[in-house]
Amino acid sequence: MADAVEVVIGLEVHVELKTESKIFCACSTRFGSPPNTQVCPICLGHPGTLPVLNLKALELAVRAALALNCKVARYTKFDRKNYFYPDLPKGYQISQYDAPLAEHGWLEFRVDGRMRTARIRRVHLEEDAGKLMHDEVTGETLVDFNRCGVPLIEVVTEPDLRSPREARAFMEELRAVLQYAEVSDCRMQEGSLRCDANISLRPRGATDLGTKAEIKNLNSFRALEKALEYEVARQTRALERGERLVLETRGWDEGRQVTVPLRTKEEAHDYRYFPEPDLVPMTLDPEWVEQIRRSLPELPSQRMARFQAEYGLPAYDAGVIVASRRLADFFEECVRHYPHPKTVSNWVMGQVLGYLNSRGLEPEELNFEPERLAELLRMVDEGVISVSVAREVFEEAVSTGKSPRALVEEKGLEQLSDTGALAAVVRQVIEEHPSPVRDYRRGKVKALGFLMGQVMKKTAGKANPQLARRLLEEALATEREETP
Ligand SMILES: [Zn+2]
Repeated sequence: MADAVEVVIGLEVHVELKTESKIFCACSTRFGSPPNTQVCPICLGHPGTLPVLNLKALELAVRAALALNCKVARYTKFDRKNYFYPDLPKGYQISQYDAPLAEHGWLEFRVDGRMRTARIRRVHLEEDAGKLMHDEVTGETLVDFNRCGVPLIEVVTEPDLRSPREARAFMEELRAVLQYAEVSDCRMQEGSLRCDANISLRPRGATDLGTKAEIKNLNSFRALEKALEYEVARQTRALERGERLVLETRGWDEGRQVTVPLRTKEEAHDYRYFPEPDLVPMTLDPEWVEQIRRSLPELPSQRMARFQAEYGLPAYDAGVIVASRRLADFFEECVRHYPHPKTVSNWVMGQVLGYLNSRGLEPEELNFEPERLAELLRMVDEGVISVSVAREVFEEAVSTGKSPRALVEEKGLEQLSDTGALAAVVRQVIEEHPSPVRDYRRGKVKALGFLMGQVMKKTAGKANPQLARRLLEEALATEREETP
């Protein structure tokens, strides 16, 4: 059955725009403030108040649309989307319905080494709702309106994604593009990037869409991929049994790793959309839009191509590094100070990402200057420290903020590269271990490993391994000549 069936996925992504103030009032958008401290009569929906559009929000939305290759509308307007929910004090959300800000875009992304493209149906502006907090202990539900009125864009794709992996790869690329364009910080754990996924199955070759389920509020890449994998299995089983699927909204239960039905899906008419009478329709000046287009920075796909051409990085390395603008900036700055791109890329992908992942940090939270990494790598090249010591120094330098060179000096981690001193240690080891020395002389090459181990032990791991090995081999050869 698996091959006879095609998976069809479309995404609706909500992205919080990086503005200082909310979309229709002057309240702050800062994350993490005490509940209900960033509210006013406008975002609380008091009668008689009027919204005023934040120009910065409009500009960021246009930036996002252009970065996603959309056609920005000349004429656009706001509409009211009516529904009742306790986190929505006005009883409606100001959104856009039939005249969205932008349409007909596309985004190219890489999945398993292949390039794929998904079309973007539309990008529109809207306001966020508040946040409900359920108290497990008292059973009460509290509401925080700080987020109410924070500017959002909704990015809606065409149903062009064909697997959970593709959906995830698309989202990762989308996040990278929006971060590069400085439209949003896209912190999924803070809810500034959230995703709903529509998924249905159909017989391969069919053009009609099957009955879809919409999975709400997927707030991590992993949750997105896992929830979709679960849905593929669930829908496949249902179709195999000849069950009829219903159009419904489902939620992802992280603890049980299953999707659960929430409600049968609303249709657009349930929202009774109508033009927002308190905001005038807008006609965007094409020259202003062009100005924004010209101000867009190099985007991830362009940067990836450049990293391959300019630094000779493999596609895999380039892809991993450009996925985060901060990481890519870090890489380039480091290469400026230490012009060995592949070595730097290995360290960025290995040590730097390893450090961040093990602590659940984002690249933006890395508190380490690229010059410091360059300094560390130079010390390895100069033979001052070994690669394994360099790895330890890196960890410590990142967590303490100290310079790698200072740490090496402070802890006496320099390699023992003094030929005279090392030769003395080698002589001592040979005297103390006559049996392995004899073994080696009789051609048992493995004995050299044991003797090397003794040299490292006597020097507390600081002997320069290449030099120690050479001295040991030379000494053993001499000993052999001297032995009758
Ligand atoms: Zn307000």
